[in-house]
Amino acid sequence: MLELSTPVQYVKGIGPRIAELLASKGISTVDDLVHYLPFRYEDRLNPRGIAELRPGEMATIVGEVRNSGFFRTRKAPIFQLTVGQGRARLRCLWFHGGYLQEKFKPGALIALYGKVEEDRSGELQIIQPQFEILGEPGTPGAEGEAERKAAESLEVGRIVPIYEAIGQGRLTSRWFRRAIRIALDNLTPDIPDPIPAMVRSNLALIAPRQALYQVHWPEAGESLQDLQSSRTPAHIRMIFEELFFVELGLEMKRKQQKAQTGIAFDLNDKARAAIKKILPFHPTAAQRRVLKEIAGDMQKSHPMRRLLQGDVGSGKTIVAFEAAIIAIENGYQVALMAPTEILAQQHYFSARRILENAGYRTVLLTGSLENDRKREIRRHISQGNAQLIIGTHALLQEKVEFGNLGLVIVDEQHRFGVLQRLKLMKKSSDSGEPLESSSPANAESKAELSPSEPDVLVMTATPIPRTLALTLYGDLDLSVLDELPPGRTPIITRRISDDRSPEVWEFVRKQIAAGHQAYIVYPVIAENEETELKAAIKMYRELSNKTFADFKVGLLHGRLDPDLKDQVMRMFQRGELQILVATTVIEVGVDVPNATVMVIEHSERFGLAQLHQLRGRIGRGAAKSYCVLMTGGKTTEEAERRLDAMVRTNDGFEIAELDLELRGPGEFFGTRQAGMPDFRVASLVRDRQLLEAARREASAVLAGPNSQISADEISRALFHMRSKWQKTYGLVEVG
Ligand code: ADP
Ligand code: MG
Repeated sequence: MLELSTPVQYVKGIGPRIAELLASKGISTVDDLVHYLPFRYEDRLNPRGIAELRPGEMATIVGEVRNSGFFRTRKAPIFQLTVGQGRARLRCLWFHGGYLQEKFKPGALIALYGKVEEDRSGELQIIQPQFEILGEPGTPGAEGEAERKAAESLEVGRIVPIYEAIGQGRLTSRWFRRAIRIALDNLTPDIPDPIPAMVRSNLALIAPRQALYQVHWPEAGESLQDLQSSRTPAHIRMIFEELFFVELGLEMKRKQQKAQTGIAFDLNDKARAAIKKILPFHPTAAQRRVLKEIAGDMQKSHPMRRLLQGDVGSGKTIVAFEAAIIAIENGYQVALMAPTEILAQQHYFSARRILENAGYRTVLLTGSLENDRKREIRRHISQGNAQLIIGTHALLQEKVEFGNLGLVIVDEQHRFGVLQRLKLMKKSSDSGEPLESSSPANAESKAELSPSEPDVLVMTATPIPRTLALTLYGDLDLSVLDELPPGRTPIITRRISDDRSPEVWEFVRKQIAAGHQAYIVYPVIAENEETELKAAIKMYRELSNKTFADFKVGLLHGRLDPDLKDQVMRMFQRGELQILVATTVIEVGVDVPNATVMVIEHSERFGLAQLHQLRGRIGRGAAKSYCVLMTGGKTTEEAERRLDAMVRTNDGFEIAELDLELRGPGEFFGTRQAGMPDFRVASLVRDRQLLEAARREASAVLAGPNSQISADEISRALFHMRSKWQKTYGLVEVG
């Protein structure tokens, strides 16, 4: 008998070489193998008779190979196959079908799947059908015959699972069908259900063994539509299970975080007054609400783990500074981390503008500083002189010892990824006790406790679809800034082909004449013969010497010397440059309220989130702002959808949902480095509702034990969760 944990080599028919192939796809145990789900199902229960086919329909046909061969046309060689059922015949065609030449032996049994079409003379044919050879012609001998029969029972006369082949076609769909069947037939009947009974009955889940079997070998009456959309009871059971244990892990982490010793900051009158004093404007209702949530966390005795989500321009920075003041007024240090130097610098300048007047000591620590300077700053940090420390991930990489770190703020979190976030949290927990505090009573009581975890606030401007927030950030509490500061007029977005650029430049000219500033963004820094894309450096030359020779034009891109970058950015900020030609380095966070125009050339080349971030650089002041999406060259269908969405809506959440749909969750955050769990059967796009349910149930389980769920069941579920997490998400530790 096979156990789920048995290595795949022990499945009959799988030797070391095949096992290796499978391992390359992450299939190393029987459990992995049986979780390799069909991506499609074919109804071969009632394969169609050739005579009854209608043009336009998708059909499965089982028939016998009659003949095959090449014929040439003016365009390309075409491979033709004729399949027969009795006297009826059907033609199949493949363009460039050279690889098929030896495939079809006359008399072989074959299954075909494809769209039935009519040729010019009204005869039916299928072009490029999917096919599967079910049996070689006339295998002699009783044994062979029996085998053929058995094979047939897996291949025809039923709903048949279709798997993605792997190893360059070495392990075919048919191979998987057999291997999985053998695995299932030899699988121990005794598979305990790791999902607690309460949850099972809430969702009416079927048993694990039944689900495994039916997902591969659906019963005859099963709805083909439910199968294709992964909505059969078997699919639901498997998908829910996967999501449930991820959510259980995240829920567990949340609970553990709450159990840790944190710093109970005191939100005293002094801090309140200090916050009031620094505010350069009336906070929005959303900013007030969010600050209240943050301050509430900070006052609690367990560490804060909160995600602040707010669309570009919603005013997260000031909220971060307010939180910083609470910590500093309690005698602690605050670290503010930004993903790019430009952004770190910008935060540093705003911090100095807003906070230094109030007497707070701010330092900037980035990788590009001279070593001497770094050393000096590190000393200030370790001695507790610096109260607000702003930096890039240099804060992680350089040997920074904090004197008494109380609050960590991570800006534009999505650029960092979970790994770095964890590292930072870990790092912060290494730091020591508070030094001299401005409120001694408070510091004293703190010193008696075991080392406290600092609070962590992560901020992101990429609106994260709720499903992703639930998984990627499921261990965090969530605050949302869902209101823009007053007086903003919605940005007007237009699409325009780049052969009309003179009109665009004329428009830019008018805006600048009215006292505003403009960004012009390019997809690449320098030209490249392969792509023929307009490049920032070249266009800068052209725009600054010709088109806008009478204006001050600056250039900003990632390869510039940090000092120069800094200088350019500052000049633009101060209005000394009217136009900034740039690459996506300005995508994140840059704040110049006087800029009202964002021209993006080759906008078809940018991702949706990127476009939205870029557009977020304008519309930050009271004046009307304009985003011009120029297109040059051909746009794919997907690019069309992106550009349409940009023109249609300014709503970051709507855009994020579409982005998720277009790119899939893996790509959404720039792939796995963001720490996206790699699901075997679930899909965050398709299975939102199940994810919500999983989250709900996970939290209900951990609210126990109670009359619904026993302590024993909880610990069994947790045990299962831990083994899963270790294997699947490896790096993430759950208690
Ligand atoms: P983001 O959330 O994208 O980081 P910022 O914090 O950079 O946004 O804020 C965007 C702009 O809005 C900044 O110029 C900031 O000074 C301004 N701002 C923020 N909050 C308010 C407010 N309540 N009233 C007016 N302007 C505000
Ligand atoms: Mg920001």
